[in-house]
Amino acid sequence: MKPKICYTAAAHLVHQGKILLIKHKKFKQWLGPGGHIDENELAHETAVREFMEETGLQVKIVSAYDDLSGQATGADDLFHPMPFAVNEHWVCRANYEERQKAVEQNLPFIPDKQWSKGCEKHFNFSYLAKLVGPLEIKPAAGESKEVRFFTLEELEGSYRSELASSIFAEVKQAFELAKSFHS
Ligand SMILES: [Zn+2]
Repeated sequence: MKPKICYTAAAHLVHQGKILLIKHKKFKQWLGPGGHIDENELAHETAVREFMEETGLQVKIVSAYDDLSGQATGADDLFHPMPFAVNEHWVCRANYEERQKAVEQNLPFIPDKQWSKGCEKHFNFSYLAKLVGPLEIKPAAGESKEVRFFTLEELEGSYRSELASSIFAEVKQAFELAKSFHS
């Protein structure tokens, strides 16, 4: 039985030499604002929506690499910004194991309380964001209150243990790519 996959999107905003991260309420780790892609939603739209919900900041997504936007032939045929990383990770292995057991024993599956939507693995598109509104951080009700900018030095130093290795790799890549957006 294959794990259930949720598709998610996140964004990294590098602004004035710092990156904006939020402390995830369940993981207790710092990461870029993001979340599940809703039905009929495009991945980069999710990143913009989640960014607003989690930080109060209006961003737009910028393509990480040269894309084919200029070559779209019409309104029915669109190209969209490219993520700079695509990552698959476990969020709740217990849900997978419990669901497997439930199927084998023909019992109802009750998801873990922390992951009550039944999340098992996430397949995440990571985008680069650019600030297009005022710099006033204001998370929506119910979202993590821990939202702040970090320098790369802080993340390499005293905060390193609060970042998953994959997130740390993404953060470094975001800083690198953002250099070309500062013109
Ligand atoms: Zn999920």
